[in-house]
Amino acid sequence: MFEKQICIPSAEEIIAERPVPAALQTVKRERDKLATDVITGRSDKLLVIVGPCSAHEPKPVLEYVSRLGKVNERVKDKLVLVPRIYTAKPRTRGVGYKGMFSQPDPEHEENTLRGIRTIRALLLSAIEESGLSAADEMLYPENYAYVEDLLTYVAVGARSSENQMHRLVASGVELPVGIKNPMSGSIPVLMNSIFAVQSRQVFKYHEWQVKTGGNPYAHAVLRGRVDNYGNDIPNYHYETVMQVLESYRAAEGGLSNPAVIIDCNHSNSGKQFKQQIRIVREVMQNRAYDGDFRKIVKGFMIESFLVEGCQQHDVVYGQSITDPCLGWEDTERLIYDIAEMV
Ligand code: PEP
Ligand code: MN
Repeated sequence: MFEKQICIPSAEEIIAERPVPAALQTVKRERDKLATDVITGRSDKLLVIVGPCSAHEPKPVLEYVSRLGKVNERVKDKLVLVPRIYTAKPRTRGVGYKGMFSQPDPEHEENTLRGIRTIRALLLSAIEESGLSAADEMLYPENYAYVEDLLTYVAVGARSSENQMHRLVASGVELPVGIKNPMSGSIPVLMNSIFAVQSRQVFKYHEWQVKTGGNPYAHAVLRGRVDNYGNDIPNYHYETVMQVLESYRAAEGGLSNPAVIIDCNHSNSGKQFKQQIRIVREVMQNRAYDGDFRKIVKGFMIESFLVEGCQQHDVVYGQSITDPCLGWEDTERLIYDIAEMV
């Protein structure tokens, strides 16, 4: 049974309601170039995708992003900062808060149409206030069309990286697409995903059969894995990253732009959010130690918000209602530390 609840206009219609002003389109395009240059190796800056696990309320997210914009001014010679504005959340057991895209108010029921308008307004204000265009997870591939004019980085989550539609749509995205290792940690599966996303594809997308050019900026994001007993096992250590490098080298058919982003939270930290600081330091030390490691590790993903930790319901302003995050002071210090260690 599918009860029709709300008729959702097409992406073209929604974008026409409030198109991105030309000046902000230019900012976004420049930022896209900064980010893709890191992945291709044209730039040796590090990409740092940083922000809350989920953006559940516009106001604290905008405050966070404005602060990040000021930090960016001080580190932009060394780092490309991309705020996480994640508006669709995969849930391990499929139930619970699913993100601003479907639930613009986490305490009220789903309203996708209001959700789409809310996130477009949020992504636009974020660029306006901070000069930073954002990253989001492409959890529902067809929804990408509603935000493609506003994002600079796209993630394919651990639960989606083996999914055909995610791979096909990501192959048409002209931005860095970070593909998480699957929950099992399988590196062959991850390499197959990257191959699929880097390949040209033909498929049905919205009302059209479309043909994509393949996305040469698709790359690996290591987020740790979960073993058969539910234990978190990290995969940011030297040995694991070097095996990923070997897998890139051995990939049948060849892969463009070998790159790894280390996701410091999730199964790498075991959601012990403060461990993200230690993980960044270890990875930076390994970069200094080994030239091959340095070349392939091109950045970090860090979960961070105004207030550290997390809460079940939205009571504390600026605290995550999904995964636990670093607080602002720790984040600011960590970003300056990364910039110094590059
Ligand atoms: C996330 O980045 O918040 C997330 C849900 O990650 P993963 O897909 O790695 O669980
Ligand atoms: Mn998370």
